[in-house]
Amino acid sequence: MAKKPTRKPARKTIITKLDTIFSQFIRLRYSKNEISECVTCGKQDHWKKLQAGHFISRKHYATRWNEDNVEVQCVGCNVYRYGEQYLFSKYLGQELSDELMANQEALLNLVM
Ligand SMILES: [Zn+2]
Repeated sequence: MAKKPTRKPARKTIITKLDTIFSQFIRLRYSKNEISECVTCGKQDHWKKLQAGHFISRKHYATRWNEDNVEVQCVGCNVYRYGEQYLFSKYLGQELSDELMANQEALLNLVM
């Protein structure tokens, strides 16, 4: 009997899986007893109730899974206050913020 050909997973499926795993990694990496802290307001909660917030929007694939670009945020900061980018950059520090922005621009120029 012929072997059923394995279907290549769709790009969208791979991205969704990677987002899920990466988000868990970010929310757990500095957690203590499963409690994590929002980097922009300091709110502490169970990691499952917090989000992985992107400094540079996740619509840019170049930095979507860059661990310097993504930190723990509460829903208030990440969604209702649009990521608190100013506070986020203060948390990251000038050097890292500039580096992420420069990398992003350089990669955009390569694509265009
Ligand atoms: Zn917050």
